[in-house]
Amino acid sequence: MNVKKVDFIIVGQGLAGTLLAHFLKKEGCQTVIIDNGHRTCASKVAAGLINPVTGRRLVKSWMIDELLPFARQTYREIEQHLGIFCYHERPILRALFNHREENDWLARTAHPGYEAYLGEPENLERILRDTEPAFAYGELKQTGQVDLPLLLDSYAAHWQAQGKYLLQEVIYSDLVITPAGVTYAGFTAPQLVFCEGAGALQNPYFKNLPSGGAKGEVLIVHIPKIDWQQILKHRVFIAPLGDDLYWVGATYNWKYANDQPTAEGATYLQERLADILRVPYTLVGHRAGIRPTVKDRRPLIGIHPEIPALAIFNGLGTKGASLGPFWAYHFGQVLLQKGNLDPAVSIARAVTTSAEED
Ligand SMILES: Cc1cc2nc3c(=O)[nH]c(=O)nc-3n(C[C@H](O)[C@H](O)[C@H](O)COP(=O)(O)OP(=O)(O)OC[C@H]3O[C@@H](n4cnc5c(N)ncnc54)[C@H](O)[C@@H]3O)c2cc1C
Repeated sequence: MNVKKVDFIIVGQGLAGTLLAHFLKKEGCQTVIIDNGHRTCASKVAAGLINPVTGRRLVKSWMIDELLPFARQTYREIEQHLGIFCYHERPILRALFNHREENDWLARTAHPGYEAYLGEPENLERILRDTEPAFAYGELKQTGQVDLPLLLDSYAAHWQAQGKYLLQEVIYSDLVITPAGVTYAGFTAPQLVFCEGAGALQNPYFKNLPSGGAKGEVLIVHIPKIDWQQILKHRVFIAPLGDDLYWVGATYNWKYANDQPTAEGATYLQERLADILRVPYTLVGHRAGIRPTVKDRRPLIGIHPEIPALAIFNGLGTKGASLGPFWAYHFGQVLLQKGNLDPAVSIARAVTTSAEED
């Protein structure tokens, strides 16, 4: 068989693999991407929300001041490149449920460094009309929503048209690994990068990493004519998808039997919706995926310590849309020997540090 030489083989075309391939291509590299048809693809289930201030304590996400402008620029660049519109800047309206939450919000708005992200809610009329009112509301700014299915499908079609995309499962035992690189499915490259998301839990080459998985279920609902422009964070997130469709989610489970939607997940989300909405809706979809989580909530990136032909780009956890662009660029530079890997995201920390929390 004729073997074609490329610079990199990427396994997995979720957000991680897509962004890494994007940046490697910008550097002039030849890359082939292999994906199993998004069989276990968290990116296809996610809302793609970018939310700089999260949690009950309203804390800025790690490195968000750097990540956010980089993410925005990257998604705009991809839009231009592919001729699509996948990055939507939309405020998140956060429901506050009592005096304490409102006070915490107000206190946080006075904190240095938060003024760019927290503000007074605007254009509340439609959401107040269509939902049970909360105690108060705050508005998260510089927030956005990446249409990840559109981004992934558009890039897949683009690469397929160029013969750089293979639709198949990568079988680990069939990889031919030599000191010169890796050969697989008619392609050979000095380096292969695994971007398998939670699929990496089965990867025999990177099995000692502190990776985990958190299953999430979501509903897609049709709510005619409400025309929300914001994303609502109430008991659950409700995010507009266009065409009167809304993403509702998500559940969060560390213990799960498989990656399939469950009756309990649907019931939980439908009960939350019943608490929130004053208008009727129709259920049109119910999906599930596994978030590739890491104990210390940092990406897991690096080159295999004993097999330098193998590398991994993973651990985007619950925040792939904001973390992905910056770290894909960073790792691209490392792979091309134009920069050093930041120890905060290096797989080397897995054996040297204990878990720390955000
Ligand atoms: C319910 C839910 C809601 C979420 N909401 C948000 C959100 O609002 N904002 C946000 O930033 N993040 C969100 N996330 C997290 C986000 O989805 C992840 O951070 C991100 O998508 C991970 O991307 P990935 O490319 O690493 O993994 P994935 O998207 O899982 O992609 C991995 C790909 O590799 C393929 N693959 C795996 N193994 C193989 C193999 N052996 N051979 C071939 N192909 C293989 C898989 O099929 C898949 O296509 C959410 C996740 C879930 C589940």
